[in-house]
Amino acid sequence: MPKAAVNVVVLGSTGSIGQSGMSVIESSQGRLRAIGLSAHSNLDLLARQAREFEPRWIVATDAAAASERNWSDLPAACQRSEGPEALAELVSRPEVDVVLAAIVGSAGLSSTWAAVAAGKRIALANKETLVMAGPLVMELARQSGATIIPVDSEHSAVFQALQSGRRDQVRRVVLTASGGPLRDRPLSELQHVTVEEALAHPTWNMGRKITIDSATMMNKALEIVEARWLFDLQPEQIAVVIHPQSIVHSMVEFVDGSVIAQLSPPDMKLPIQIALEWPERHPGPARQLDFSEPLCLEFEPPDMGRFDALQLGLEAARAGGTAGAVLNAANEGAVAGFLGGRIGFDEIVPACRAVLEHHHFSPRPTLAELIELDRWAREEVMRWVCA
Ligand code: NAD
Ligand code: MG
Repeated sequence: MPKAAVNVVVLGSTGSIGQSGMSVIESSQGRLRAIGLSAHSNLDLLARQAREFEPRWIVATDAAAASERNWSDLPAACQRSEGPEALAELVSRPEVDVVLAAIVGSAGLSSTWAAVAAGKRIALANKETLVMAGPLVMELARQSGATIIPVDSEHSAVFQALQSGRRDQVRRVVLTASGGPLRDRPLSELQHVTVEEALAHPTWNMGRKITIDSATMMNKALEIVEARWLFDLQPEQIAVVIHPQSIVHSMVEFVDGSVIAQLSPPDMKLPIQIALEWPERHPGPARQLDFSEPLCLEFEPPDMGRFDALQLGLEAARAGGTAGAVLNAANEGAVAGFLGGRIGFDEIVPACRAVLEHHHFSPRPTLAELIELDRWAREEVMRWVCA
């Protein structure tokens, strides 16, 4: 008898990761089925996806935008609901096997939390969930039996490399970073960087927020905190190396000195497919490496003086408690400020440092406290810029 399809909910199906997830589902030859989709405001694309994939449920989280739209183009069998609260009900339905958490920013926390609480498999792209509330989320997963498989390419690489040995044999993980579009720009010129320049990533094609994070290196800072909680590592066990080609997605060094790396072209469809189908591997839509052409891989240590964001990531990983949520929210506020033309590129990281250093640190916050701090820090960050 053929195996039943795995029922997948894609949260944020209209985004960069979400659309790549939809192509992975489409190429899966029926192994994966999109049973539920959500999007915020790109509702025409959501409706098009609903016609193509025929999910049972869709959620439009921006209720105001949803109420203005004429939904007569939806398939008759597709049930629609509105508002962010509808996501918890969607991900908890008994028919759902896997949730691809691909909403951007802290807006993705509550739905990911609900999926973890419901004991689902989570294909986790929304790294902000672990940055904000890593210890609480991992504890909830232990209680509910949920499994969290990373979609972030670095963490997918570490997840795969970890299969080569036991956890007590791991010396450290080495996260690779492309360095982004401004890697070689003199520091004195960073204040003049335009939104277009910061969005011109050399190797990855991603959503706007994470692309700015790559240019400031804040993305790597968030990934340090993500790795700390996801893999239960000490902060000293996490290193970062600049690798401009984005072919080696990260490495695990074992105690005997063996370093296991994962290589593939920069294409998120591969880590998405791995997270959705693990431990199975199948031919998929991601690009493949071509060794018939010369291939040069470079690695160099990051200049910690240049990239204060990396330092902030290490500090937040060491501090734990409220530090990750505050760093993440300050960054979201600052990036929105930069994309909206209100602050300069070179102000993003210093403003995040100021907010992190001036918040009331607490070592064991509750989820409610973290959500309140998230609101506070994204407003507070603009005060530091304007001061
Ligand atoms: P994106 O901006 O392209 O897409 C975001 C998705 O979230 C969209 O579907 C949008 O409708 C939805 N959304 C936005 N605001 C929302 C809100 N307030 N409530 C509910 N839904 C909302 O973002 P992306 O680049 O696809 O990134 C998604 C997540 O994946 C982020 O956490 C990012 O850090 C992570 N990630 C992305 C990449 C990448 O290649 N793009 C790589 C690694 C990790
Ligand atoms: Mg990444």
